[in-house]
Amino acid sequence: MESLMTIKMTNAEALALGMPAPQGKGRRTPRAVASGPYATACVECAEVFFSRAAEDRHFAETRHPRYELVLA
Ligand SMILES: [Zn+2]
Repeated sequence: MESLMTIKMTNAEALALGMPAPQGKGRRTPRAVASGPYATACVECAEVFFSRAAEDRHFAETRHPRYELVLA
């Protein structure tokens, strides 16, 4: 997600606003950089996602923070 604002906020504040926590430059969560098909399932409700963006959107909507890889 791209922000049009350049305000400073802590990760906690960003989460409180329903935004994904900002990552360091060039850094990604290790589990998210696997090559090939990408699929994760929400631990809370088992919904399956095929991109980080979809996960982020689900988290923003539901506050479900945990996803497990379900490559099959
Ligand atoms: Zn969920």
